[in-house]
Amino acid sequence: MPSISELPIVAELENDSTAGNHKLRRRRRKRKKKKVTAEQILASRYVHEWAFGHSEPSDDSAGRVLFELHSHSKFSDGFLSPTALVERAHRNGVKVLALTDHDTMAGIPGAIEAAQKFNMRIIPGVEISALYSPGNEPGGEEPLHILAYYGSCGPSSMCEELDDLLANIRDGRYTRAQEMLVKLGKLKMPLKWEDVVNIAGKGVAPGRVHVARAMVEAGYVENLKQAFSKYLYDGGPAYAKGTEPLANYVVQLICRSGGIATLAHPWALKSPVSVIESLKAAGLHAVEVYRSDGKLAGFSNLADTYDLLKLGGSDYHGRKADDESDLGSVYLPVLDVFKFLKLASPIWCGSTRNILRSFVEEPSAANMKKKFSFYKPDKSDCCAAKCCGKDCFDLRSSSWLSDEERQNAELENIRLKLSDTVISKVGLHLRLDGR
Ligand SMILES: [Zn+2]
Ligand SMILES: [Zn+2]
Repeated sequence: MPSISELPIVAELENDSTAGNHKLRRRRRKRKKKKVTAEQILASRYVHEWAFGHSEPSDDSAGRVLFELHSHSKFSDGFLSPTALVERAHRNGVKVLALTDHDTMAGIPGAIEAAQKFNMRIIPGVEISALYSPGNEPGGEEPLHILAYYGSCGPSSMCEELDDLLANIRDGRYTRAQEMLVKLGKLKMPLKWEDVVNIAGKGVAPGRVHVARAMVEAGYVENLKQAFSKYLYDGGPAYAKGTEPLANYVVQLICRSGGIATLAHPWALKSPVSVIESLKAAGLHAVEVYRSDGKLAGFSNLADTYDLLKLGGSDYHGRKADDESDLGSVYLPVLDVFKFLKLASPIWCGSTRNILRSFVEEPSAANMKKKFSFYKPDKSDCCAAKCCGKDCFDLRSSSWLSDEERQNAELENIRLKLSDTVISKVGLHLRLDGR
């Protein structure tokens, strides 16, 4: 653990995007440094310990823990592979990265694997497309995105229900993209279906951005921004609705599967107050209020009113556009990160227990593969021949859970049950070193 004086309090409110004068910034920082409260010190310590365990970070970041909670890879409409995304995040100083692709968690194993060599932590996430419907009010419906953050083991119970939900949304994207192409054809901008599918990539459900890229390539618009602002915006002339589930149901499912439900970019909504009120009643935990240009006061106040956590992230896609916020560019105050982890930790810990418990009931290699789907077997691991379930448990749980979280009678019980278990065969092994 770092000493208190080394803790990352200087980072608090450091993100002053308007200040161009370095001297002024340094002076301000010095001033703010003095105002560090005991609460912030404790929060910093907790966050650091959660991210790194008891070990010191290996670089010169002096204990600062940079979180990036909103990012996309090639598995949805991002441009980078999960590996390239993790490498870029690392270069930008990110220590904890949530990969939140649209309606899929297929990129998570690659991100976890890539993060190991940088001692970074991956929060398995997903950004789920949903539809807000205010009951019988006609015309009040609007599409929105809900971020779900899970513990290291991923969603716990109801996993199949979540998988089915995401698969349905992805299927709906194909129909929706086809509808958009029909509309564009009527607007005298015909596109080939194969082109859109090729742009999306193998197995990736095409989204609006893939249609927009095909429009740019065909020369109908100059750039993606124009494709959206003229044709593909919500309700636009070439817009088509998907088959999104109702937002309240999505929030409830995230809660049931051990996730933290967060309303993404509420500033894009027509009626954010009614949406937040309704989703809070369904169990919503948090709302994005931080962006790279700072905190949005209006949404911060709304978060206070509805007792929601305040989060945010860059929503990085790797579009190479000048106005795109880069990974790690959104500053989250340590107290907000602390509140997030304090709320999430017991939920994630409960999911891990559920998963381990169900593994104990059937400690087979096949079940291990099913339960720990985010962790690819690695031929270099020790369990090639056989290994004691308890050893595997100790190694895994030390990276999944903090020391405090592991002090739990039920977990100890599971560990003891695994003492007599030997997991082997069919070449499936537990990874030993990573998070
Ligand atoms: Zn979104
Ligand atoms: Zn996003």
